Amino acid sequence: MIVFGWGSEAKVLGSVGCAQCPNCANEATWQVLESSRRASLYFVPVAKWNRRYFVACPICHYGAELKDREHAESVLAEGRRRSLDRRQVTN
Ligand SMILES: [Zn+2]
Repeated sequence: MIVFGWGSEAKVLGSVGCAQCPNCANEATWQVLESSRRASLYFVPVAKWNRRYFVACPICHYGAELKDREHAESVLAEGRRRSLDRRQVTN
């Protein structure tokens, strides 16, 4: 018997710091996500395709789609830089 599965998965790549969500009005740490379709054979992933990147509110998942992995990385880097700035202000 061949065990073959497929579905979609979303992976959190990192957070971009606290922001107020324009949709649910909660203040939360927004996340950068990678979502993809995947196929697996005997529970081992064999293919991944249709990768998409998002920055989204973790509560209601309202957000924006990012262009590509590079764009996602730059949004993450910007979030890290901003949280460093904030730390300096509070010290
Ligand atoms: Zn929200």
